[in-house]
Amino acid sequence: MPELPEVEVVRRGLSDHVQGARFNNVEVFNPRAIRNYEGSDAEVAAFLAGHEIHSVERRGKFMWFVLDDGAALVVHLGMSGQMLIKNTDEIQSRYELPLQPNHAGLDDKNLRHLRIRATLSDGQEIWFVDQRTFGYWQPSDIMETANGDVPLSLVHIAPDLLDRTVDISALARRMKRRKTDIKKLLLDQEVVSGIGNIYADEMLWRTQIHPRQKANRMAVPVIQSLLLNGIEVMTAALAKGGTSFDELYVNVNGQSGYFDIELDAYGQQGQPCARCGTLIVKEQFGNRSSHLCPACQRLH
Ligand SMILES: [Zn+2]
Repeated sequence: MPELPEVEVVRRGLSDHVQGARFNNVEVFNPRAIRNYEGSDAEVAAFLAGHEIHSVERRGKFMWFVLDDGAALVVHLGMSGQMLIKNTDEIQSRYELPLQPNHAGLDDKNLRHLRIRATLSDGQEIWFVDQRTFGYWQPSDIMETANGDVPLSLVHIAPDLLDRTVDISALARRMKRRKTDIKKLLLDQEVVSGIGNIYADEMLWRTQIHPRQKANRMAVPVIQSLLLNGIEVMTAALAKGGTSFDELYVNVNGQSGYFDIELDAYGQQGQPCARCGTLIVKEQFGNRSSHLCPACQRLH
C-alpha cells in the first residue's frame, strides 16, 4: 500500500504534467472507482469537463486536484491505484476505440485494470488504473479550515507530518493526553495523517519506543522527538524517489514508485538490530503486526 512519501511523489509527478490543463471527456469504466458521490457517471464527467486544474494537493495519503471553479477532485490510490499519464495520439494509434477495458482476457494490464479515463485539453490523458479497486475518485466541494482549504470529505483527516501547517509541539501535547498505545495514535488519521505501518515501526525504532507504550506515560519531548523522527524518515524516503516492495505501484511515468529506503525495523524480523544487535521481532498489533527490537524498545 502506498504511504505518504509514495503518494507525494505521485502528486509531484501529476502536478508537473497536468497543472494548467483542462479536463475534456471523462469515461468511468467501473462504478466502484467513483466513491462517496451521489451523481451518475455522466454527472462526474460534467463536474470535471471544461475545468482547469489549478494545482494538485495532498494530505496524508489523499490527493486532490483544485479546479478553477473552486471545487476539487479527490483521488485515493487505495492499495494499488495508479495515475498514469498517457498521450491521446498514442492511445488512438495503439488501441481500438472506444476502449473496452475490464475483461479478464486482455493481455494489456493497464487496459485490463483501467477504471477511469480522463482526456485533457493538451493532448494528454490520465488513466486511473487499479487492480484491486480499493482506490477511487471523488468530486467534492472545498472548505476553508484553520489548516488551509481542504475538500469537504477530508476535513476530519488531520494534517500530516510534512504539512507546513502542522505544529509538532501542539500535536505532541495532544497525544500526551491520550491513554492509548502510541502506535495506535500514529496510525489514527484523525490525530496525524499519512503514517502507515512501515513508517510507524521505523519512527518507533528510531526513538526507542515500544509500540504499546501508552502515550500518557510518555514525556512530551519524547513524543516530539518521535514525530521529528517520522519527518526525518519520510523526508529520507521522499529524497530516494522510489522503492519497490510491490510492482503494482508505479508513479505517473510508469516507473516503480516505492521507496528503496533502508528499513531498520519493518520486515526485519530475525535480523540483528542495527543499534544493539538483538534480533528484531515481529508481534501482533491489532489486525496488523509490529516490528521492534525487544532490547532497545522496552515498555515503561
Ligand atoms: Zn536494539
